[in-house]
Amino acid sequence: TAGAAAAADIAVIAGDGIGLEVVPAAISCLDRVASVHGLTLRWNHLDWGSDYFRAHGRMLPVDGLETLAKHDAIFLGAVGVPDIPDVETLWGLLIPIRRTFDQYVNLRPVKTLPGVRSPLADDRPVDLVIVRENTEGEYSEVGGRSHRGQPHELAVQEALFTRPGITRVARYATALAASRRGGLTSATKSNGIVHTMPFWDEVVRSVVLESPDVELRSELIDALAASLVLRPWDYDVIVASNLFGDILSDLAGAVTGSIGSAPSANLNPERVHPSMFEPVHGSAPDIAGQGVANPVGQLWSGALMLSHLGHARAAAHLIAAFEAALADGVRTRDLGGTDGTADVTRAVLERIDRLA
Ligand code: ATP
Ligand code: MG
Repeated sequence: TAGAAAAADIAVIAGDGIGLEVVPAAISCLDRVASVHGLTLRWNHLDWGSDYFRAHGRMLPVDGLETLAKHDAIFLGAVGVPDIPDVETLWGLLIPIRRTFDQYVNLRPVKTLPGVRSPLADDRPVDLVIVRENTEGEYSEVGGRSHRGQPHELAVQEALFTRPGITRVARYATALAASRRGGLTSATKSNGIVHTMPFWDEVVRSVVLESPDVELRSELIDALAASLVLRPWDYDVIVASNLFGDILSDLAGAVTGSIGSAPSANLNPERVHPSMFEPVHGSAPDIAGQGVANPVGQLWSGALMLSHLGHARAAAHLIAAFEAALADGVRTRDLGGTDGTADVTRAVLERIDRLA
């Protein structure tokens, strides 16, 4: 692919629980597909995660972000265990990475996979992408609490939106929609949230006007949530603020089946900084160490990484390989099968060769 280097340096944080199982599985498939396409992926394994936290009192080494900055991408499994509070992994690892590397797009493809059953009675195929703003909006630290414990106690939390912040995520979503079926839905709530959401609507609209091929629909978040359950196949690209995108991502993921299959990317689209690729699922302590974890979410995240690094054909090859394995009935327990992680990995490796 034009502009793409034939070698990439990738920082790997397998993390905890099933991250330690699905990351090696995905790496073996990524290496196989890379070799077919003449690419070299150099993996730098970093043992950061909960054990590191127990030993050092922090999730990342002091110079951890500098280490990550030297790589072309970050490939993350899952960080977190039940006895360490979520805030440590979130504020000690994920948020510093997203902010330092200005990963302002959180990308969540939501697509029906062969043989993966939707909980919906009508299971027409769904193929949509959620573009969530990842750096500003409702998740701000501006605000506070007062009169603690008193009858009139109160809390205030400000949402913070900027013109450049909305513009850049809207540009990304518009370009993505133009490269797909040309449909862009913007999640809003301008009837109830009277300052930030009308601003969001105006900026998104002005960006989309630059692309005559893209058709914009603005939908109120409540109605959009309902229609994602009733008619998810009607959507192409959805652009949403940090909070709305967070909620819609889980909703849309649930509509298509297993959490074990869902991928995500935290992107710095200009590639000034490394982007991070991770499955939607967590460390799944209930099944960790049993060899039964579904590696598809990790594999698919790896395909997003290849695509972001400029290797769209290798990415498509990898996706075709795991789709072929699923279509042939190879699947883990969460998808109603009996195969283990290693069985699925073997089947995908075999399909990579067959489809080469
Ligand atoms: P975390 O706090 O790390 O996000 P969690 O318990 O909130 O962990 P998950 O780790 O995603 O969330 O697990 C949710 C459920 O989905 C668990 O029952 C888990 O076993 C199941 N699950 C998650 N990922 C997979 C996978 N890859 N394969 C099979 N089952 C999975
Ligand atoms: Mg969780």
